[in-house]
Amino acid sequence: MYRIGVDLGGTNIAVGIVDEKYKIIAQNSTKTKRERGAKAIVKDIALLIEDLLRKTGIKVDEICSAGIGVPGAVDTKKGVVTFSNNFDFKSTELKKMLKDTTGFDFFVANDANAAAFGEYIAGSGKGSDNFVLMTIGTGIGAGIVINGKIYTGVNGAAAEIGHTVIVKDGIPCSCGRKGCFERYASASALTSMAQNAAEENTNSELYKLCGGDIKKIEGRTVFAAIEKNDKTAGEVLDKFIEYLAVGVTNIVNALQPDVLAIGGGVSAAGDVLINPLKQRVQIEDYARFCELKTIIKAAVLSNDAGIIGAAYLDLT
Ligand SMILES: [Zn+2]
Repeated sequence: MYRIGVDLGGTNIAVGIVDEKYKIIAQNSTKTKRERGAKAIVKDIALLIEDLLRKTGIKVDEICSAGIGVPGAVDTKKGVVTFSNNFDFKSTELKKMLKDTTGFDFFVANDANAAAFGEYIAGSGKGSDNFVLMTIGTGIGAGIVINGKIYTGVNGAAAEIGHTVIVKDGIPCSCGRKGCFERYASASALTSMAQNAAEENTNSELYKLCGGDIKKIEGRTVFAAIEKNDKTAGEVLDKFIEYLAVGVTNIVNALQPDVLAIGGGVSAAGDVLINPLKQRVQIEDYARFCELKTIIKAAVLSNDAGIIGAAYLDLT
């Protein structure tokens, strides 16, 4: 048997067919063009599924489950997207629309939660009971799995760890608060810290690597400069990890999950990010004297996590 997983992102709609070993055996995608609204997006999802079934020769009755991850607050029982920052969704009956258009009964979940579930069953969280995936991108998203079930909160908007304050009266955030975690420890925050540092240190590798155009600096530029032993880039990363550790330790102290995985583009940096982060959290972890501690590691499934997790939403 096979499952269908859909990862609805702000930029791309990705659809995959997943086998019983959690492998994506075929996938395709198209541009979301999110201003179009739900109806046109659902139509495209149906076309992508049709195309995949045709290409793989898999029949409709060989599909045992289907699921979709959507950015926003989701009433998972009803399959309704209550609201979304990125889409024109308001009380959108996505489950019903998908059933009418594709013929499949879809499970609907928040996208960060679906990705967390994917990592939990098939990636960095495999074998754990309680698991958190923290995704560092433009913002900071997260998904929490407790005893094998996604924790959604009362309204489907739980795990917005990026919008917990770590600096009182700090940098204003799009959510209305000031000093949110994601203003200091997202990929965007790393980029702006690096740009400021390069501007102040024109002798640094960081500055040289962008050819003097600081707007060209992004997260990966920091890691490239560190490989060349650049002091400025090293200081930027230290500062970034300091902030990241505050937010990570808050989660560890609140939940003490078995595993907390870091995903998103920044996690590709690997040990150079994860090892110093672990050391800092270890100092601040309330349970540092306990024998069992939260294991912090990099996520492993990258963009596949969203599709795999969505495909297996029937298990949560
Ligand atoms: Zn915020």
